Amino acid sequence: MNDILPPESARWEWLEDKVRRLMAQYAYRNIRTPIVEPTALFVRGLGEVTDIVEKEMYSFEDRLNGEHLTLRPESTAGVVRAVVEHSMLYEGGKRLYYMGPMFRHERPQRGRYRQFHQIGAEALGFPGPEVDAELILLADALWRELGLKGVRLELNSLGEPHERMAHREALIAYLEQHADELDDDARRRLHSNPLRILDTKNPAMQAIVDAAPRLVDFLGPESIAHFDGVKAILTANGVQWSFNPRLVRGMDYYNLTVFEFVTDQLGSQGTICGGGRYDYLIEQVGGKPAPAVGWALGVERVLELLKEQASDEPRVCADVYAVIPSSAVVPAAMKVIEQLRRAGISVQMHAAAAGVEGMGSMKSQFKKADASGAIRALIFGDDELSRGMVTVKALRDGAGAQSEHPLASIDQWAPTLQSNG
Ligand code: ATP
Ligand code: MG
Repeated sequence: MNDILPPESARWEWLEDKVRRLMAQYAYRNIRTPIVEPTALFVRGLGEVTDIVEKEMYSFEDRLNGEHLTLRPESTAGVVRAVVEHSMLYEGGKRLYYMGPMFRHERPQRGRYRQFHQIGAEALGFPGPEVDAELILLADALWRELGLKGVRLELNSLGEPHERMAHREALIAYLEQHADELDDDARRRLHSNPLRILDTKNPAMQAIVDAAPRLVDFLGPESIAHFDGVKAILTANGVQWSFNPRLVRGMDYYNLTVFEFVTDQLGSQGTICGGGRYDYLIEQVGGKPAPAVGWALGVERVLELLKEQASDEPRVCADVYAVIPSSAVVPAAMKVIEQLRRAGISVQMHAAAAGVEGMGSMKSQFKKADASGAIRALIFGDDELSRGMVTVKALRDGAGAQSEHPLASIDQWAPTLQSNG
C-alpha cells in the first residue's frame, strides 16, 4: 500500500481530471459506493473459485455485530448492489463511472499492490453490442487523451451459459486426458472452474492450453451476432483489435464480450484495463434480471506506462510566488494575494519558516521562489506598497526583468500573471 505524495499526486489529479471530462462527454455519471461491503456480495458476485475470493480478500468480522465484511477488491459488485438497492434501472439503462481504491492481498511487485486504484465505467440495462463498443471507444479515447501509445486491444466472446457448459464438458474431457501435465492450481480447478485454467500464467502449461478446445467454436448464432456487432463498430471507428480466443477474465460473472487493453512495456503486469459483459450478475446479486457491461483500469499501471513512455508531465507549480520582505506588510500583501487568487491566479505565498527570524532574508525567499517553479515572483516591498504598487519579477524567461503594477486595478493586470495562458 502506497502513500501518494506531491508532486506525484499531481499526475493522479491530472489523470482524474481527464477522466471526468471524458466521462461527461460520453454521458457517464459518477457513482460512489462504500469501500466495505458484505463478504457475501463478493463471494456470490465474483465466484467462489476465483483468485480474488479464494485468497486475495481482506475480510474481517465486525466486532460489534459479527457481520462478515470485506474491503472491496473491485467495484462492479458494489455498483450492482447499489443499482439494485436503489432501483436505478427502473426508468431504463444507466451509465456510471467510479474511481477509487481497491484491496487485494497479492504478492506486491511492480504494477501489483495491495491497495491499488481503479477507474471503472459500467453501462447497466443495455443488452446490445453498441454499448459494449461504446465502452471500448471510451477507453480508447482515454488513451488518446492521456497520450498513451502502444496499447493493444484484445477481444473474445465467452458466449452464454449453455454454450459455456458444452465447451466446459469438452474442456474437462481434454484436460483429464492431460491430467499428469497439469499444475496444482489447474488440477484443483479441473472440475470447479476449468475455464480459468486457460488463464494460467504458468509457462509450463502453455502448450496444453494452446491446444485446448476453444470456447468460440461452441458459440451459437446469437452470440456470434453480438460479437460481430461489437467488432463491426470498432472497425468502423478505426479501432484496432485482435481476437484472443484464450482471453478469460478473473471473475466468473462475465458472458459474451470480454476484452483487455494490454501493453508490452510493463513487464508481466501488462494489462492496464479489462472488462466485459456481465448480463447475469444483477440477478445473481438479487436484482431483477438486467444486462450490463463495463471495464476497470488500473491507475497505477496507466501512470507507470505514461512514465515509461516519458510523456509530458503535468506542470505542478503556482503562477506566482509571493515574496513578503517583512512581517509588517503581511496584512496588506495577503489582501492583494487573495484578490489575485479570486481573479484565477494561483499564488504560493511565502510564509515564515520554523526557527527563522521574521519572514526570513530576501535571499532565502528568492531561493524558495526559484525552487517553487513559479514563472514570476510578486514582491511586496514597503516602498512600492506605500505608493500603491507591487513589483512583478520574472524568474524564468528574461529572468530579473521587473515591472510595477497598481493595486487599484488588480483585475486588469492579473491575467498577465497566468503562466499557461
Ligand atoms: P491481473 O491479471 O493483472 O491480476 P486482474 O484480471 O486481476 O489483473 P481486474 O480485476 O480485471 O484485474 O482489474 C482491472 C485492472 O486493475 C487490471 O487490468 C489492472 O490494471 C488493475 N489491477 C488489478 N489488480 C491490481 C493490483 N493488485 N495492483 C495494481 N493494479 C491492479
Ligand atoms: Mg489479478
